[in-house]
Amino acid sequence: MARYAYVNGRYVDHREASVHIEDRGYQLADGVYEVVGVRDGKLIDEKPHLDRLDRSLKELRIAPPVSRKTLCFVIRELMRRNRLRDGLVYMQVTRGVARRDHAFPTTPVRPSLVLTTKNTRHLGPDVGPGIAVRSQPDIRWERCDIKTVALLPNVLAKQAARESGAYEAWLVDAKGCVTEGASTNAWIVTGDGELITRQTDSGILAGITRGTLKSIADKLQLKLVERPFSLAEAKQANEAFITSATSFVTPVIRIDDAPVGDGKPGPTARRLREEYVRFAEAGETVT
Ligand code: PMP
Repeated sequence: MARYAYVNGRYVDHREASVHIEDRGYQLADGVYEVVGVRDGKLIDEKPHLDRLDRSLKELRIAPPVSRKTLCFVIRELMRRNRLRDGLVYMQVTRGVARRDHAFPTTPVRPSLVLTTKNTRHLGPDVGPGIAVRSQPDIRWERCDIKTVALLPNVLAKQAARESGAYEAWLVDAKGCVTEGASTNAWIVTGDGELITRQTDSGILAGITRGTLKSIADKLQLKLVERPFSLAEAKQANEAFITSATSFVTPVIRIDDAPVGDGKPGPTARRLREEYVRFAEAGETVT
């Protein structure tokens, strides 16, 4: 089966899909992206993802390459062509192709729009065995709220984690507090059963899964506090977990060399995962 990518108005064979070498995304990381989860052919939280894409574009003063309506159509058409049931839709917008210069192009350029899809295994309500995370210094810039393709610090942190046998990196700021994961948001559950996740500001990405989980926690009448938490506090926590469009809710059972709680996925993460999957199942059917 041919796998398609969408590149600037055309559906092309994924193996042949390309942008110009002077695309500012390629040369300067001057662009933004979004990743929307798909489960059973349904897009999860499409609207908040597209709202965040608009926000990222606005912050960087890149014009939306197509209307929201067109983008929604392209997403569905690519899913249909690629028969995507479980996986991800990736979309990327860059400032476009222009003669290399750090400053924005002075003549109008068309922003580049690229979409791809990826099949993943079917993520169900079972949380699985949990994952290990490795702490890494957060060496990113001060606008982590923008979902830019400039991901080199995240790449290096994730690689360091993987080389140490962990699945994800937890980024730690100068004050010793966990900001977020390299590509996920970070949560803990205290001994009092309080859910803690860092407040959203320019220090982290406001995860869409994080936002949905806040509503779920509220519905379940769990106490949620948005505040910084230190790495030391996380290691003492009853439970820890990560959230993202890719991982849903996944328990953290080890932080560096310390087991979290009894070293097994805890009841809060299990419950939240079940509820999240229920929410995802209720989404809009596309294929
Ligand atoms: N933080 C970072 C740095 C990320 O890259 C991601 C994944 N996009 C997240 C958090 C989780 O965001 P979401 O729930 O929207 O996938």
